[in-house]
Amino acid sequence: MKIKKAEFVVSNTDHKLCPDDKRAEFAFIGRSNVGKSSLINMLTGNKSLAKTSGRPGKTQLINHFIINDDWFLVDLPGYGYAKASKVQREKWEKFIAEYLTKREQLLNIFVLLDSRLEPQKIDLEFMNWCGEKSLPFSMVFTKIDKLSSSALQKNLTKYKKEMMKYWEAMPPVFTTSSDSAFGKEKLLNYIGQIIDATK
Ligand code: GDP
Repeated sequence: MKIKKAEFVVSNTDHKLCPDDKRAEFAFIGRSNVGKSSLINMLTGNKSLAKTSGRPGKTQLINHFIINDDWFLVDLPGYGYAKASKVQREKWEKFIAEYLTKREQLLNIFVLLDSRLEPQKIDLEFMNWCGEKSLPFSMVFTKIDKLSSSALQKNLTKYKKEMMKYWEAMPPVFTTSSDSAFGKEKLLNYIGQIIDATK
């Protein structure tokens, strides 16, 4: 799939206020600084798209972008802020959990993982929660240009080992670099296949 058009639509903290529109949605989520804005900009070929919503004060919102007038790319707030208070975290968890569990047109969650880091508890917990709720998700490793292919393979194996403690099979895994655009086509084609399957 090629992205020809990507436009910011709306930001919300309440899933009930998200676009009243049945077109397919794909959400992107991960720890802050994982490379989410860079990935969204790389995928859409628009250097500042995610920054529009990433400006201070807007980062804790559910951001909808309409792609090719056909589907929504949803940029979710990053989790795992070291500075976030317990109250802030609980508030975050509540509105994100509501969006993820109640949004019927949400077809897949892309969980972003920094390829340089060992499996992180917070990411494993989040993926297990998606599994418990039967929410389809994929693992997207970011910043792969920052490590050697052998170091990447080693870390992917570690992740697989952790995941297989809870799962019988691995979810789809994507490796990406926003610097080189590695992984762009595969990820977009995967989205295209899911959309085609629903039409
Ligand atoms: P966000 O907080 O998850 O939206 O993360 P950003 O997209 O703002 O990225 C965080 C930092 O990682 C920034 O300094 C980016 O330039 C850097 N970064 C993000 N993706 C990549 C990548 O694929 N390769 C490299 N080398 N750096 C990246």
